[in-house]
Parts: sequence; C-alpha cells; structure tokens
Amino acid sequence: ARKGKTPEEVVKKYLQKVKSPPEEDCTICMEPLGGPSGYKGPGVGPVSRAESVGRLAQCGHQYHFQCLVAMYNNGNKDGSLQCPTCKTIYGVKTGNQPAGKMEYHVIPHSLPGHPDCKTIRIIYNIPPGIQGPEHPNPGKPFTARGFPRHCYLPDSEKGRKVLRLLLVAWDRRLIFSVGTSSTTGESDTVIWNEVHHKTEFGSNLTGHGFPDPGHLDNVLEELRAQAVRVNPY
Ligand code: NAD
Ligand code: ZN
Ligand code: ZN
Repeated sequence: ARKGKTPEEVVKKYLQKVKSPPEEDCTICMEPLGGPSGYKGPGVGPVSRAESVGRLAQCGHQYHFQCLVAMYNNGNKDGSLQCPTCKTIYGVKTGNQPAGKMEYHVIPHSLPGHPDCKTIRIIYNIPPGIQGPEHPNPGKPFTARGFPRHCYLPDSEKGRKVLRLLLVAWDRRLIFSVGTSSTTGESDTVIWNEVHHKTEFGSNLTGHGFPDPGHLDNVLEELRAQAVRVNPY
C-alpha cells in the first residue's frame, strides 16, 4: 500500500547518497550520471545537484534520482521498486491481478511423474470487470476467459511449499495480470503473469501438463524473481 508516501519519498527510502557520480551513463535515460536526467516527462520537478544521483542500497546500481522517480510513476506505485539492471526488488512487490478467488484441495489421484503422492488442485476464478488505474486501459472493460482455471501440483513436501508461496503471490496480486493474451491475441483480458502453472492433469497436450521433472524448481525460481520467498523479510 502507498501509505500516503509520495513517489519521491518511496524512491528516497531505498537510496544512498552519492557524493561524486561515476563517469558512467544512467541506464534508464542513457545520459551521463554526472549531468542532468534525460527524463523530460511531466510531474518531475527540479532536484538539487547533491540529490541528482542515488545508489540503490542493496545492489549498488546508480541512477538519476529523477529517472527512478519516473520509472516508479510508470509502474504500479505500490511502494516497491525494482532495479532495472539486476531486478533486485526493494519493498514488497505487488501486481495488478483483478479481484477473484483462489481455492485448493487435495484429490486422491497421482500425477504422471509423481506416483507416490496425491495431487493438489488449485482453482482460480476471476470474473470479468472494469480496468482500474493500475491496468493498461483504465475504465475499459476486461474479459476473463477459461475460468475457473484448474491447476495441479503434487501433494509432496516441495509441492506444498510451492502452494504456500502461490498463496502469498495471490495475496500480492501476482498470479494474473490484465493485458494481451499471447495464446489468443485478445487484448484487455486476464492473462497468466510470470509464474507457470500446470493446467493439465493426466495429459500434456498443451505443454502445460505432467510429467515435467523440473517444474517445481522452475516455479520456485519464478516466484523468487518476484521476491516471493519462504522466509519472511
Ligand atoms: P498467455 O497465452 O498470454 O500466456 C501467458 C503465460 O501463460 C505464458 O507463460 C504461457 O506459457 C502460459 N500459458 C499459456 N497457456 C497456458 C495453459 N493452457 N496452461 C498454463 N499456462 C499457460 O496467457 P493466457 O491467455 O492467460 O493463457 C492462455 C490459456 O488460457 C489457454 O491456453 C487456455 O488454457 C486458457 N484459455 C481458455 C479459454 C477458454 O475459453 N476455455 C480462453 C482463453 C484462454
Ligand atoms: Zn537517468
Ligand atoms: Zn541493481
């Protein structure tokens, strides 16, 4: 949540001061860090020379302060910031998944490749609606095709770990997004976000089925890329 902070305050929170900028270009605007930001957009006021460049506290990458503020303003404005170079996430990243429901239960059948355990079935349901300010076309309707969408995980230790993280990702609105479907080409529709799910149970006609020995590790990696981890921050 924004908690009333301005974009400048959010960005500043994650930055350290830089006394003398390196002789490098800012990779957001491609202008030298020693000079002014190349960003000419609206809503960015002048900053003092001492504050013109900042170093992201954890990864050390440096940018014009105004470039980071502009980047933040172009995103979800959820209080988090992602380094455009190394993808380190500052704060808790949230997405723009529309309102809906996530449910799961165990079914007494085994998935191909997981003969020794039962199966977790996740059911996602998102109805169509109107896009909010966080979506590509605010005020315009969005469609929601193929819901409820059923997904499967082995009910193993690792599968249950993935489920716990998916529940966190759902609360942070990271499982789905609104945009253009790469499968159907339809725009303004609910689409899967960056975390792959298996939507086939006993077959693999779409490539989104079992067996797939690397699947759980891949999903854990995709969740890590969104900073959804087992340990709390
Ligand atoms: P998309 O096509 O834009 O793809 C986004 C991501 O989802 C990609 O990483 C892709 O690999 C993955 N993905 C694509 N198809 C998938 C599937 N069947 N199961 C699991 N992951 C899949 O995203 P989208 O438009 O949300 O996904 C398209 C899929 O949604 C279709 O293949 C279909 O299963 C379902 N769908 C169903 C209907 C319907 O009327 N039944 C309509 C539209 C989409
Ligand atoms: Zn810049
Ligand atoms: Zn970085």
